[in-house]
Amino acid sequence: MAEAVVIGGGVGGMAAAIRLRAAGHDVMIVERNEVLGGKLAAQSIGDFTFDTGPSLLTLPEVFDDLLATAGTSLADVVEPVRLDPICRYRWGDGSSFDHRASAPDAVAEVDRLSPGSGPAFRAYLDHGRRVWEVSRRTFFAGPMESPVDLVRRMQGPSDLWAVDPLRSLDARARSHFADPRLVQWAGRYATYSGSSPYAAPATLACIPWIEQSSGAWYVRGGVAGLADALGKVVAGIGVEVRNATEVEAVRADDEAVRGVRLAGGETVDADVVVANVDATHLYADLLPDQQALRRVLRAPVSSSGFALLVGVEGRTDHLAHHNIAFSSDEAVEFADIFERRQPPGDPTLYVCASAVTDPSQAPEGCENWFVLVNVPPASAVDWDAEAEPYRDHLLERLARWGWDLGGRIRSIEVITPLDISKRYRAWQGSIYGTSSNGRRAAFLRPSNRGPRRGLYLVGGSSHPGGGLPLVAISGAIVAAMVEADLLHR
Ligand SMILES: Cc1cc2nc3c(=O)[nH]c(=O)nc-3n(C[C@H](O)[C@H](O)[C@H](O)COP(=O)(O)OP(=O)(O)OC[C@H]3O[C@@H](n4cnc5c(N)ncnc54)[C@H](O)[C@@H]3O)c2cc1C
Repeated sequence: MAEAVVIGGGVGGMAAAIRLRAAGHDVMIVERNEVLGGKLAAQSIGDFTFDTGPSLLTLPEVFDDLLATAGTSLADVVEPVRLDPICRYRWGDGSSFDHRASAPDAVAEVDRLSPGSGPAFRAYLDHGRRVWEVSRRTFFAGPMESPVDLVRRMQGPSDLWAVDPLRSLDARARSHFADPRLVQWAGRYATYSGSSPYAAPATLACIPWIEQSSGAWYVRGGVAGLADALGKVVAGIGVEVRNATEVEAVRADDEAVRGVRLAGGETVDADVVVANVDATHLYADLLPDQQALRRVLRAPVSSSGFALLVGVEGRTDHLAHHNIAFSSDEAVEFADIFERRQPPGDPTLYVCASAVTDPSQAPEGCENWFVLVNVPPASAVDWDAEAEPYRDHLLERLARWGWDLGGRIRSIEVITPLDISKRYRAWQGSIYGTSSNGRRAAFLRPSNRGPRRGLYLVGGSSHPGGGLPLVAISGAIVAAMVEADLLHR
């Protein structure tokens, strides 16, 4: 059995560690932060608690599948709560749409918002189902070392058409919906991979179906509780965990990895090294490799995020757990983020107030507002100078939506792209690692296999990309590759 070291204890790293340990290997996770979880994290400010990374869990079955390898299940280790509505969407003209958890209710809500659009919404979900059925057994079913991998897993040309990779998500949405509000709603799902609806492939049309069919979930006590739970599982099955320990280098000769060197000089021998760190960090610092680094930098980086953590006095009428207030012009908003590379002046505001579902997250009668907007990669903006003015700008925008928090703020902090970059060593403060922008994005993502024998990449910057379920799938793909490679040695 191999000795394996996982560098980084994000969700992808823990998923790989659990599977490798379940397969009988000796596994060590080395994480530079005090706690495991990476971006899946929480912050307490006074009596308010905020999920500072993921606030929405989708595809819980991916975690059931992972946890089954350790003899447990998601519901055994956390309390998942299915949300209804999934999200409350608002537009500047005063209209709103509750995306309800049951499909018939959601269709009825769409018909109320936009009379006659219900069937198009139903058809869009059905289309998403077909995309997902094909994607899960092709794109998500294994590594993507070349397009041939994908083609080999397809059953025929109809599969290729089904995943609709050539047109943009926006174009697909326009072909379904006459109402521009529904086009904007459908395009928003591009941001689930830090992308623009004008550049990301229409394959992402499967996400609304995924939310509709397997639910939008919260974890009671905070979504970050999933990180603690995975951490306990990891330790419980005998993975050795070294917290607050930085890996300084991957040790390797020309052929294979030999282990890692920790800050302070200690070395750990291993014949398998799984890097859960951003691929840029791996190839720039840990195992310097100019060629690999150049290839990584060709993959489009995901957008970053600017967040307000606001402890709010009192309760707000008509506030749901997840709320979206759409920008008045999404074309301008996405051009700001991806072309002009500036924080959008009129951003779509995402407000998560988990205290609506879970009173433990705020003092009695109060709300924990996590306000997130998509912004360009960290280096595009001088956030040391811009954080405060942009915070005030967002508070003004919130007030225009009728959410004047003015006299109700008990505490307020911000998270900038620089913070995301520093806390997790996330390249450019990217939320998701690599984005899906461009037809070749899926093929430009760094491979799960590194350039030396025994080196593997797991997590948001490699295949299949970012988001909690995807990085967990990435862990499964890597663990299967390790097994296959060891068999052939
Ligand atoms: C604001 C925000 C909101 C998000 N919202 C959602 C959401 O609602 N739903 C969703 O599914 N996803 C969401 N995501 C994305 C999701 O959080 C990520 O895709 C996922 O958690 C990334 O996991 P990962 O395995 O790639 O590792 P990461 O979380 O990136 O962890 C990598 C780990 O490696 C460690 N590390 C780095 N360098 C070293 C080193 N040299 N030595 C040791 N350790 C090192 C880091 O400290 C970190 O812990 C959000 C992310 C953010 C930031």
